[in-house]
Amino acid sequence: MIQLKEKIRVTASLVFDTAWRIGSGKEGETMSDLGVVLDSNGNPVLPGSSLKGKLRSTCETLSHALGLSACMLNHAASGVSCTSDVNYYHSVRSNYQQAYQQGVQTRLKWIANNTCDVCKLFGSPVQAGRLSVSDGVLRDWASVVQVRDGVVIDRDSQTAVDGLKYDYEVIPSSSRFELCIELENPTASDLALLGAALFDWHAGSSIGGFTSRGLGRFHLEDIKLLGVDMEDSEQRLKFLTGTTTEARFSDLGNWEGYFTPYINGN
Ligand SMILES: [Zn+2]
Repeated sequence: MIQLKEKIRVTASLVFDTAWRIGSGKEGETMSDLGVVLDSNGNPVLPGSSLKGKLRSTCETLSHALGLSACMLNHAASGVSCTSDVNYYHSVRSNYQQAYQQGVQTRLKWIANNTCDVCKLFGSPVQAGRLSVSDGVLRDWASVVQVRDGVVIDRDSQTAVDGLKYDYEVIPSSSRFELCIELENPTASDLALLGAALFDWHAGSSIGGFTSRGLGRFHLEDIKLLGVDMEDSEQRLKFLTGTTTEARFSDLGNWEGYFTPYINGN
């Protein structure tokens, strides 16, 4: 059990600039071949797991520019092994099992030495992460699911296969969700990664399926940064007894100003 010393909460509006889709993996409500995820009221869902996965891949992409490390140890979540070298994978595994048997201190030391900055922030098969992302809270949308036509492309010739068509559902552009990201006991590396990812998302990124066809473009607006320092008795009391977010957390001010020193490595 790790003691909570500090918690940071980032809230923002995520606005889709194009249509987007997070596939349901089955036929859609419109009888389309590829449905989108909708809740029981027929409203679109932007799952926290999808947001966290996208945030993680953004951090992996940016980590080298920040002088931080990213590995592909997280094959459990991605379904892709970090390394095609099976021998390497097995040696890491047996190495970890040995450390595990030597007790908690050895195990924690092994994790600290053998997992990258991104794994420490988001979690890996050997340790939970410090960052969590809630499901997006729907604020606005066009209240209609659109259906688009697709053609089946032959992988080798890169041309359309005659007569093979399908259709897929999308949620129209301009839908808006509220995001909430929480980070416990952040390190300087955590704040550099999260800050860089927020700058990237603020400028514009993409999420969901068919992004190569231009779907899923979004940007963030109204980014707000709140925090609590549990080692400060006044803040701790507010956090534990407050009944609203505003009463529990302190405003950490302008997010760009807050994260820039970590990105600069200061
Ligand atoms: Zn890693």
